[in-house]
Amino acid sequence: MSHTLKANPLDQRLGSELEEFRRTGVYKRLNFLDSAQGPVVRMEGRGEVIILSSNNYLGLSAQPEVVAAGKAALDRFGAGTASVRFICGTFTIHRALEQACARLVGTEASLSFVSCWNANEAVPGTLLGEDDLVLSDQLNHASIIDGVRLAKAITKCQTGVYQHADLADLDLKLQAARDRRVRMVITDGVFSMEGAIAKLPDLVELCRKHHAVLVVDDSHATGVLGATGRGTAEHFGMVGDVDIITSTLGKALGGAAGGFVASSAAVCDYLTQRARPQLFSNALPPTVAASALAAVEYLEAHPDRVSTLRDNAQYFREQLRSLGFQPLPGETPIVPVIVGETAFAIRLSNELLDDGVFVTGFGFPVVPQGQARVRCQISAAHTREHLDRALAAFRKVGQRLGLI
Ligand code: PLP
Repeated sequence: MSHTLKANPLDQRLGSELEEFRRTGVYKRLNFLDSAQGPVVRMEGRGEVIILSSNNYLGLSAQPEVVAAGKAALDRFGAGTASVRFICGTFTIHRALEQACARLVGTEASLSFVSCWNANEAVPGTLLGEDDLVLSDQLNHASIIDGVRLAKAITKCQTGVYQHADLADLDLKLQAARDRRVRMVITDGVFSMEGAIAKLPDLVELCRKHHAVLVVDDSHATGVLGATGRGTAEHFGMVGDVDIITSTLGKALGGAAGGFVASSAAVCDYLTQRARPQLFSNALPPTVAASALAAVEYLEAHPDRVSTLRDNAQYFREQLRSLGFQPLPGETPIVPVIVGETAFAIRLSNELLDDGVFVTGFGFPVVPQGQARVRCQISAAHTREHLDRALAAFRKVGQRLGLI
């Protein structure tokens, strides 16, 4: 008896959508690295390339102390927690990490999650109820957007979006919601596609005026902004003024994975009691927790890494400008160069890679139509020689494509 193999309807649909992604040039091809993350990596099929597209802002992902701490934790605690936290999946290394994260960002307490994505899902979906409201900046990260959607579905809270960084719009929306029991405002500290910094002093003032709770996702600011890398609040001299901070351990703080919520003891305790991503999912593997803890300690002992990062970013931005490019102005190590159409951004990125420099191109729908870009991310681990080699590639490819 013979059976004719027929693709099921789901595979058929996905197959034709994937074909469409390829046809329209938005299909993502993964680049496989064969070495540790760093300013220069070995990329399969390419050899050595300079990385200008990782969030390894402080260069700590291969820092010997960070790697050694992970290995030691593997020996001491084994591979993993084998349980969710409140049953028997919490190790002393989790407590030590949480104390360090709270100390770093200047809050009473913190609670770790397996990702900042999970932390962002946990905050509105656990802390709000149906009498409450959450307002989210229009350009917030996808994890905040989905966290807010989830909160609406779970808690029946009211949700809204305010125009990007538009304090007048936020003021009106908070005013209109004055009957709500809790009003929560969520913003990125640093907006990752632009490298723009949230207007924290204005946001704090407005939230105080309306008795609203301010949540700042500092994933691109922890280890990056402020004289000692304590984040957006330190940048503005406002450590202690943000009600709830969420951040990732997957970027400047070692780059492995994980995230945290930092806030009052009450907020963190309530999340421990009720946050579903905590209650029903294992905690960070102890190796990852130990590496992240070592990264926080390294940062505290070496604030000079933050100033090197700042100097490198300033140098790269200025040099790009002197070549004739027009990177978005800013103070962060995220340096986007807007080029217009998605296909052009992808071409620029491909040609730079052919020249040994890896910079990702972003197009619609990740960024608005017509504002496709390549986004350079600078690290403290880049030497001037790395940056100069990358700039030489930008000059060569930019001239070839008629950009400069
Ligand atoms: N929030 C922001 C602003 C981010 O850029 C990211 C990651 O890209 C996340 C949250 C998610 O972080 P994680 O990788 O820890 O889930």
